[in-house]
Amino acid sequence: MTKIHFEITTPEKTALKDEIDSITVQTKDGEITILPGHIPIVSALSSGELIVRREGQVIPMAVSGGFVEVKPSLPGENKTRVIILADAAERVEEIDMKQAQEAHERARKAMEEYKNTDEVKFADATAAFERALSRIKVARKHARGKSSFEE
Ligand code: ATP
Repeated sequence: MTKIHFEITTPEKTALKDEIDSITVQTKDGEITILPGHIPIVSALSSGELIVRREGQVIPMAVSGGFVEVKPSLPGENKTRVIILADAAERVEEIDMKQAQEAHERARKAMEEYKNTDEVKFADATAAFERALSRIKVARKHARGKSSFEE
């Protein structure tokens, strides 16, 4: 078993679909690295960085919300399958920092506005805040070689 069939899908697009070597992802239970032959699991994702490795190439992505599923190989295929369904996912080079910063500020204001008045709008704003923060963190880390985001 040498490869992983990997697919990451959001409500808008298939963000990446490829044969890869490994993937590192943040789950609610901590960071995991999935290699070919990994046991089947389903885990909730935490917002943040996801790293795909393929033939010596490293592909960093920002993800928010959703689930990762590791499935056993199909009969005769000899490939572990990793499926991610996420609320949002972009490769680091696709992230528009200005758009993310504006979305972050908009979401912060909406959280403030709705925190005691509208639970649904507050939850939407919180999710938008997390998406923007994840994009900002990942873009900054790779723009400056930093490993963390300072507000
Ligand atoms: P915004 O408020 O800026 O629209 P959002 O978090 O509401 O941000 P989403 O609903 O998560 O946006 O995403 C809508 C689409 O726009 C997706 O295809 C997503 O990949 C893309 N997108 C959103 N923000 C960015 C960004 N900062 N850089 C690159 N693509 C983005």
